[in-house]
Parts: sequence; C-alpha cells; structure tokens
Amino acid sequence: MKPAGTIPADYRAGGGQLLLGGVTFQTLVEQAGDTPLFVYDLGVVASRIDRFRSAMPTELSLHYAIKANPYREFLKHIASMVDGLDVASGGEMEAALKSGTAANKISMAGPGKRDDELSAAIDAGITVNLESEGEAERALATAKRLGKRPRLAVRVNPDFEIKGSGMRMGGGAKPFGVDAVRVPALVRGILAKGADWRGFHIFAGSQALDAQAIIAAQKATVALAGELAESIGTSPPLLNLGGGFGIPYFAGDLPLDVETIGHNLKNILDSRVNILQSTKFIIELGRWLVGEAGVYLTRIVDRKQSHGETFLIVDGGLHHQLAASGNFGTVVRRNYPVAVANRFDDPAEEVVTIVGCLCTPLDRLADKVALPKADVGDVIAIFMAGAYGATASPSAFLGHPLPKEIVVDHRFVS
Ligand SMILES: *Cc1c(COP(=O)(O)O)cnc(C)c1O
Repeated sequence: MKPAGTIPADYRAGGGQLLLGGVTFQTLVEQAGDTPLFVYDLGVVASRIDRFRSAMPTELSLHYAIKANPYREFLKHIASMVDGLDVASGGEMEAALKSGTAANKISMAGPGKRDDELSAAIDAGITVNLESEGEAERALATAKRLGKRPRLAVRVNPDFEIKGSGMRMGGGAKPFGVDAVRVPALVRGILAKGADWRGFHIFAGSQALDAQAIIAAQKATVALAGELAESIGTSPPLLNLGGGFGIPYFAGDLPLDVETIGHNLKNILDSRVNILQSTKFIIELGRWLVGEAGVYLTRIVDRKQSHGETFLIVDGGLHHQLAASGNFGTVVRRNYPVAVANRFDDPAEEVVTIVGCLCTPLDRLADKVALPKADVGDVIAIFMAGAYGATASPSAFLGHPLPKEIVVDHRFVS
C-alpha cells in the first residue's frame, strides 16, 4: 500500500455521499450530464482569500494568476474577489478583460510575447511585464505606432529562488525576466522614452510549503527592489513580489503557514528603505487560491485483477488531470488525495490501483491506495484538482471528450 495525500478539510459527506457546494456529487454529475467532471467550489476560494487578507499586511494587494484555472464561470467570480489578475498570453488577456476586470488591474507576464499580443495589451492599457531588452524595444515601438503611452514593468531574474526545502541562492540563467544587473539600464531607457514605468515584478518560485523559505525570498525581493530603485534613482510605483504559495498534495505535506508569512512580511515592509516608501505591493497567487477548490470526478468503467493486484479503470485520466498522474512537474509519482465519492464515509477495505482510460502506462491516477470497495459505476473523486488541471493536460491525446466543468458555492447553501 502507498499513502495518499490528505483530503482538504473543506470536504465532507452527507448520507455517505461526497458533498460539493452543499449538494451531493451525484446531483452535480446529473446537472453536468456525465463524468468526467471537474467541480470548483467558490466557497473554498473565498475562504482562502479571507485567510490571506487577515494574515497579510493591509497594504498588500492580491492578484490571481489565471493560468492556474481560467474556467470562465469560475474566473468571473474570482475576479470580483481579488484586486487584479495576472495573465500570460493574449488568450488569457481576453479572458481577464471579459471577466470585468479593469485593464489597469491586469498585468501580462511570459517570455515570447508576440507583437500582436504586445499591441493588444498596450492598446487596452494592460501592464506588460517585460522579460527582456528586446521585448522592451518591441513594446516601445508598438506603443509609438499606436500613439499610446505604454504601462511597462520589468520582470527581474533574481539571484535567488524559493525551493520547497529552503531558499537557494544563485538563480542563474533563465528564460524569464531580466538579470538583476541589467535592470537599471533597461529602466532608465524606458523612462527616457516616456513610458509609464510601473515598477518591478520578481517571481522567485512556485509550490513552496516552507514558510521560512518564502519569507527569506520576500526579504531578498524587497531588498533587491530597493537596491535597483536606488541605482535607477526613481521609486517604483509597484513591486509584485510573485507568489510561490504551495498546497499539501502528498502524504506528509503540511499546509503553508500563511500567518507567519504575513507577520514577517509586515516587518519586512515596515522596515523598507526610503525609496520604496510610496511603492505599492502585490502578491500574485494561482495554485494556493484555487488548487484545493477543485475535485475531479471520474466513473469506474472496469474492475480487473492482474497478478494479484486490483485495478479500477475510470472514464477520465491524464488527458484531463495530468498532474495527478505525476507527469506535470514532479520527479517521483505520488498519490493525490483520493476517495470513492459514493462511499465517502466508509473505511478502507482493499488496496487498488486506479488508472485512466488512456492506452498508455503513464495514465495512473492512484497507485496502490487503500479505499472502500468500489465497483463499476461508482465514482472516484480526486482532490486538489482546482489548479493546473483541465487546461494543463493534453486533452487532445487519444481523442476522448473534454471534461465537463461546473462551479458551485458552498457559502450560499444552508
Ligand atoms: C504561474 C505563475 C504564477 C502562479 O503560480 P502559482 O504557483 O500557481 O501560484 C504567478 N506569477 C507568474 C508570473 C506565473 O508565471
């Protein structure tokens, strides 16, 4: 048997069935028409946002990085609960604008922005986080052609990064951002061209569960921004501190202590250098806001034995939920939290391996986990499916249908 991660405390049973947004999962499957289905609970997102806001210094703004989950119905509501959105493509920019978010609250990051994307962003008044000197030139030329004053920030490639196990110094060569030593000259150049310089964006890593590592990165980020600003001789209007907040996917992972991060960040901001006194601060999060808010529901289509092991074969798979198969940014495959949705309260009775319906050995959703006995027709719930799920999976691979997606909100259910 292998351990599975812990199911987030937001989920419970009613009459033995998994409840999502206050109704049974079966009601939602009927509403959506079928499995496989992603269910996203806005109530879970709202509780994370509340926790963030009470833990963090009041002057800090919260942005949502929409690549974590751009599902339109979900995004529309999240957009109204945060202070801004971060996008990483022209398509995401359109989605962000359609969500009702004002252009001056949207920023665009990402290496390799095409001229048409730069043009659309500058025309709309979105802040472009510049990733290189070449991109700065193209952005300035585009702005001139449009007759617009572009809103430009500079993404800095810092000499440090956050790692789950502690902060690593020496970020080194990267396709993202501009090396710190080259930033002052670049900013002076865009100021000289009359651009509306918005400040710095410094993103030092992702999926960190170690509060101390995040605190060390934030401290280094504010210090670096201060040094760069002094060297340029101008105060940056904004400092985007990045994010990096992780969620506990696997057995043994502990949730991130955001209260300790908030407490330390207040001290860091309170003791900042003079040139950053009027600077506004932003944290941008994806995974931490939405990851635990999503559940992937997939129905068992076959149950079989092979060499003494029991396999449950489901109608979903890595084409929808690549991350749970261990093929999205993880070195060793480990089990996401998993349950039999229609026997959510029952004790474990057997050890099974759950595989998806794709004809590849990569399509393994849970390896040798202990679960109540489940049969054909029963529904498996895979948790932690709210971030980097449907849109971060190879949905065209093998020609199966797209997953269905549905948004619920447990706050509005009694
Ligand atoms: C992906 C990304 C994020 C979000 O990262 P999470 O780990 O999901 O919080 C934030 N900012 C930028 C620039 C990104 O590329």
